[in-house]
Amino acid sequence: MAKRDYYEVLGVDKNAGNSDIKSAYRKLAMKYHPDKNKDDPNAEEKFKEAAEAYEVLGDSKKRNIYDQFGHAGVDSQFGSGGFQWSDFTHATDFSDIFGNLFGGNGFFSSIFGDSFGGFGTRVRRKTVNRGEDLKISLSLSLEEIASGVSKKIKVNTKSECDFCHGTGSADGRISTCPQCNGSGQVRQVRQSFFGQMSTITTCPVCQGKGTIIKNKCSHCYGEGRVSKVKTVKIDIPAGVADGQYLKLRGQGNAGKQAGPSGDILLFINEKRNDIFERDGQDLICTFPINVSKAVLGGNIDVPTLQKHVKMKIPSGTQSGKVFRLRGQGLPYLNSSRKGDLYIKIIVIIPTKIISEERDYYKKLETFDARRNLKPGKTFFEKLKEYFV
Ligand SMILES: [Zn+2]
Ligand SMILES: [Zn+2]
Repeated sequence: MAKRDYYEVLGVDKNAGNSDIKSAYRKLAMKYHPDKNKDDPNAEEKFKEAAEAYEVLGDSKKRNIYDQFGHAGVDSQFGSGGFQWSDFTHATDFSDIFGNLFGGNGFFSSIFGDSFGGFGTRVRRKTVNRGEDLKISLSLSLEEIASGVSKKIKVNTKSECDFCHGTGSADGRISTCPQCNGSGQVRQVRQSFFGQMSTITTCPVCQGKGTIIKNKCSHCYGEGRVSKVKTVKIDIPAGVADGQYLKLRGQGNAGKQAGPSGDILLFINEKRNDIFERDGQDLICTFPINVSKAVLGGNIDVPTLQKHVKMKIPSGTQSGKVFRLRGQGLPYLNSSRKGDLYIKIIVIIPTKIISEERDYYKKLETFDARRNLKPGKTFFEKLKEYFV
């Protein structure tokens, strides 16, 4: 029996978008779910056919190959027996239909029982071709972190080969490995002291992929990917911190022979700031003032991340005194809340003064001598007791 066209199976147009394909599949899966069709022996077959169609059309890479080469291009993605439930990678996307895949009580174990036991090994095989993750570090200024920023960065990647659509095959044909029949593993039996021992090892012919390509693409030498400089646009949310990383899913190296792509891990590197020190989402600015300002008080111009603002300090402000400007710190990630800005005052004692100033300070000294008697009394009393 000729295999039905996947688009026909799902009842969607060739130009259908991802969401249309997904909802078309969902409808069919609900309709033909074996639990609902206990009297209809054909339902299970239809249920599986829809899953196979969605497995291909629901994945842009496989869909491209299918559009180009038809069933011949994608059949080899499945084992020699054709599509099996163990090839279905979307069960978790439809957990309302399939139940908890790994919990053991779900659809697969109840309906298909042991036939689903191959899942573990097949998943392992599929990950053989996964592309590498790429680690990239990105330096950001505090201002960029405060506002969030869009960046375009150039990344050296291995990207899908355009000529073979990432399959690595010149004619789109990928064959099941004859050595392991697509399992990616071979059993070796040897005699030992204890008797016959059998071990399972990775297939040496296909290196565990389960497939081989006879006619390799000449542009990528059968790897399905080539070196390319890719421009990646990233939106960095406001409030990130040094050492955190963003995962750009599927933006890393393409997998070999149409395997899944790796991710980009973008590590944030915060540039030093001369004015502000960071403490979580709070900022601290150490702000110098003169002795006269500390004694008399008044307005000072203090910096925030956006602009200078006027801040009034009271007369008699001590060195080390901290003022808080609420909400002038960094935003919290994915929140409208913001940290605070702390202005830490330090009073600068002049080290060089002209003789006129010296006269003033001499005069001040006589005032200080009188004043110190009162507020300093307890301190000096304590000092006296201390040395008794
Ligand atoms: Zn093999
Ligand atoms: Zn190629």
